[in-house]
Amino acid sequence: MGGTVLVVGAGYAGVTAANRLARTSGTEVTLADPRDEFVERIRLHRLAAGSGPATVPLARVLDPRVRTRRARVTAIGDGTVTLDDGGGLRFDRLVYAVGSGGSGTPADEGYRVDTLEAATRLRTAVAGLAAGAPVVVVGGGPTGVETVTELAGARPDLRVRLVTDAEVAAGLGAPARQRVRDRLAGLGVELREHTVVTDPIGLGAALLVWATRPGVPDLARRSGLPVDGAGRLVVDRTLTSVGDARIVGAGDAVVAPAEVGFVRESCQAAVPLGVAAARTVRAGLRGRPAPAASVVYRAVCLSLGPGSGLVQAVDRRDVPRPLTVGGRTGAVVKEQVCRYTVRAVRGRVA
Ligand SMILES: Cc1cc2nc3c(=O)[nH]c(=O)nc-3n(C[C@H](O)[C@H](O)[C@H](O)COP(=O)(O)OP(=O)(O)OC[C@H]3O[C@@H](n4cnc5c(N)ncnc54)[C@H](O)[C@@H]3O)c2cc1C
Repeated sequence: MGGTVLVVGAGYAGVTAANRLARTSGTEVTLADPRDEFVERIRLHRLAAGSGPATVPLARVLDPRVRTRRARVTAIGDGTVTLDDGGGLRFDRLVYAVGSGGSGTPADEGYRVDTLEAATRLRTAVAGLAAGAPVVVVGGGPTGVETVTELAGARPDLRVRLVTDAEVAAGLGAPARQRVRDRLAGLGVELREHTVVTDPIGLGAALLVWATRPGVPDLARRSGLPVDGAGRLVVDRTLTSVGDARIVGAGDAVVAPAEVGFVRESCQAAVPLGVAAARTVRAGLRGRPAPAASVVYRAVCLSLGPGSGLVQAVDRRDVPRPLTVGGRTGAVVKEQVCRYTVRAVRGRVA
């Protein structure tokens, strides 16, 4: 068996897939990404608040047999890609793992936290704020909650508000949601629920952060591959593109059928999908049928600002179970989960 595999995107799904494929004899694996750093997106809210870094050198998480090409893929064609450095690469199989982030902002005003560049820009803006400046975070999901608690904890001199169109932390069970509310109150964060922001300027924020659902890159759409309304690559139960059997997708940038399981935009899904994508590529190169992918969940882990965290147990379909751990223990578990995730992409676990 042999073949040339190109992995597009050095995030959780792409690095996971590349490392597994590098161990397949006769397979040449190249990973294309504009950066030579692995971005721990799950730490970007901390980077934005000035609490710590969120990158590790790519070489530290990558199998040395994986070749890297520091470039952005601008189009996917018939067994080839074009790159923004003017070059191109050919492939027998391609893993599409371009992730999400960087778009989906409903207005030009404001900041985001979901890419390295956006979080770095936000960190600079936060550092320049005078005491008492009003800060508004829009979005009450996990990213919004982690961002607002980190900002309020790191800069208690600011006036911080969280605005969300539904209940805060709506995906958690009621006891966990109450813990989030208590923590927000303890940090002095004003919470405004069931409020749709239609006039961002009217919020009167010196700094406005959109923690709303991120968009995905439009690479698949621009390349003429089948995508859903949000631009995510449509794949079958083996994660193979329904438009090109040589292309296999994983992570936030794909939409899979229900039998794969509910795919939450998360590392919890991106890592097993990366493992499954590698399995499908390997089967394809061997001329064998690929097994179906599946995603199962165990818990939602949130950081709630410096020294505090929350773990909500969930069943395999991501439905909350009556078990939560909070406070300092929650923070310790969350930190362990972040470290475990990096070990998982390297292939040391899972
Ligand atoms: C602040 C924050 C906190 C989070 N916390 C959690 C959490 O606690 N738990 C959890 O499970 N999830 C969490 N998430 C979500 C999680 O980070 C994402 O679901 C995860 O990063 C998706 O992994 P991925 O591999 O699909 O994409 P990404 O990690 O986004 O990686 C995509 C990669 O593709 C590259 N790329 C994009 N376009 C191209 C191109 N054209 N050519 C080449 N390369 C390209 C990018 O540079 C990037 O390196 C959080 C997200 C944020 C923003």
